[in-house]
Amino acid sequence: MIPFSPPKIDQSIIDEVIDTLNSGWITTGPKTKKFERELEKFCGNSRTLCVSSGTHGLELILRWFGVGEGDEVILPAYTYSATANCVIHTGATPVMVDTNEEDFNLSVEDIARKITEKTKVIMPVDIGGMPCAYNEINELVKSSDVRKKFQSRNEIQEKLGRILVLSDSAHSLGAVYHGKNAGQLADISVFSFHAVKNLTTAEGGAIALNLPSAFNADEVYNFLNVFSLHGQTKDALAKMQNKGWKYDIIMPGYKANMTDIQASLGLVEINRYRKDTLEKRRDIFNYYFDRLKDFEWAENPVYETDKICSSYHVYMLRIKGTTEDTRDKFISKMYEKGVSVNVHFIPLPLLSYYKKEGYQMEDYPNAYQKFQNELSLPVYYDLSVSDRKTVVDKLVETAKKLGF
Ligand SMILES: *Cc1c(COP(=O)(O)O)cnc(C)c1O
Repeated sequence: MIPFSPPKIDQSIIDEVIDTLNSGWITTGPKTKKFERELEKFCGNSRTLCVSSGTHGLELILRWFGVGEGDEVILPAYTYSATANCVIHTGATPVMVDTNEEDFNLSVEDIARKITEKTKVIMPVDIGGMPCAYNEINELVKSSDVRKKFQSRNEIQEKLGRILVLSDSAHSLGAVYHGKNAGQLADISVFSFHAVKNLTTAEGGAIALNLPSAFNADEVYNFLNVFSLHGQTKDALAKMQNKGWKYDIIMPGYKANMTDIQASLGLVEINRYRKDTLEKRRDIFNYYFDRLKDFEWAENPVYETDKICSSYHVYMLRIKGTTEDTRDKFISKMYEKGVSVNVHFIPLPLLSYYKKEGYQMEDYPNAYQKFQNELSLPVYYDLSVSDRKTVVDKLVETAKKLGF
């Protein structure tokens, strides 16, 4: 069976994890801090804080910005549930927008239509690793009409003076947009290092700060660092030093810190990420593209333009003109032939909870269009040249069998 996206666990990762286990320090400590510095160097943003997951990273930022009951947060209907759930946890209301016609990302026109006096945050999601239209989104939140509508309720909102752009960059570490890296594209970007992501620490995430100069990045970083660990003024490592036992709790913070065991995986991964991981993933994308481009039924994803370069996270193929039913048949036929494929994502309005809350799929026609014939192909570091060929051969066979 060709799996969908197993992590790359090689000897260098195992050695680094064992080194941490042997060091006697397994929770947040020197390796987590080193990983943060490596991420900052990689992305070119001011400061980065590692956390226990992408979801927690997003929620910490919403809470730092003071988002809560009565507020609205704009996000795409076409995303994984993490994007909406962290908003719901704060008591705020997710306001969903539709997808573009030409790609899988959220429509800026639909964002503009849905901004109200209650909007506090826009959360673009770089679906599959392709950055959203950040130039347009950043312009929109800074435009005088939209600024006028913004009602600040605390000091931080006052200082920003407009809607916060919080990118759900769970898929897009390493993506480039108009000469800038993911991490530098929004006010704040949150990465995920979950096991299926391009760069994994098993579970984990990072908050990349890129706030305007009115904010002191070190201060925000220090606040978030304490906020992510019970509001405690010293982390476990600092408490170990002589006379370091005395601590204070300055707020009821969360428990969302990354461990040094997780960071060990991250340190190995980040060092080979650009030159090795992304190159390998790009090869696989190019192979799929070249082999599928001449089939009438295959609609390939856009993953590179002259100004934008994806992180090659998910190869989101679409089977032209297909309904959900036929797409599902594709999946099960592929599975029978020994190839795991997947669907990214089931739009939120199709899932029970959001449906019950009143979100309706009919309100997001483009998102449904994209979803109903979407089929993601396996992409992972160790996908061999012959396995890539098998994936496409089985796909072509399946298409023939289903009458395409
Ligand atoms: C994976 C993912 C997340 C959250 O990641 P975790 O680290 O698992 O919390 C958020 N948004 C999207 C779109 C994702 O795919």
